[in-house]
Amino acid sequence: MVNIILLGPPGAGKGTQAKRLVDERHMVQLSTGDMLREAKTSGTEMGKLVAAVMDRGELVTDDIVIGLIAEKLTHPAPGGFIFDGFPRTLKQADALGDLLAAKGHILDAVVELVVDDASLVSRIIKRADETKAAGREVRKDDTPEVFVERLREYYKKTAPLIGYYYAKGAHVPIDGMAEMDAVARSLAKVLDRT
Ligand code: AMP
Repeated sequence: MVNIILLGPPGAGKGTQAKRLVDERHMVQLSTGDMLREAKTSGTEMGKLVAAVMDRGELVTDDIVIGLIAEKLTHPAPGGFIFDGFPRTLKQADALGDLLAAKGHILDAVVELVVDDASLVSRIIKRADETKAAGREVRKDDTPEVFVERLREYYKKTAPLIGYYYAKGAHVPIDGMAEMDAVARSLAKVLDRT
């Protein structure tokens, strides 16, 4: 069992890489963003509570996402967990450490997808244009204005986790600007040596 966190700003490709690991290594992807979107779509009380916050590109409260993850960790995952978009604050990081310890699991690596901000913003503008051109609806938080707010939240609240995990000896940076396949190969190397 290998448990990893994928860390990096919005649009860095965490979700794409996580999905490949699910297919190739039978790992379980735990994306709090996906869980929250699902709650929003199905209109649960919690979904209604977080909708506006998400649409503004801000983070939802720690207790909500910690609760979602705690519930998922009760399910078995022999291939290990990929934490995608969680933790995003120091409080979430502490909570994850406690939750894993309580289950006797360890965190094998915190892989940071290192990317360049200017390219991220142009990537998101391109993605929104392509989505619109294909006649599909652009995610409300994928518009350039909201994307910049998500990036700001990342630097304010999530980037400190890089130092936090570096101090724990778990931080592994990889080049997230490379081709998708090259990023996947870098990630595979990290997983194979854990
Ligand atoms: P994502 O798909 O990971 O970019 O997440 C989409 C949105 O869901 C974020 O902009 C936040 O509003 C919310 N969200 C997802 N994960 C978290 C988290 N761990 N902590 C707080 N808010 C989150």
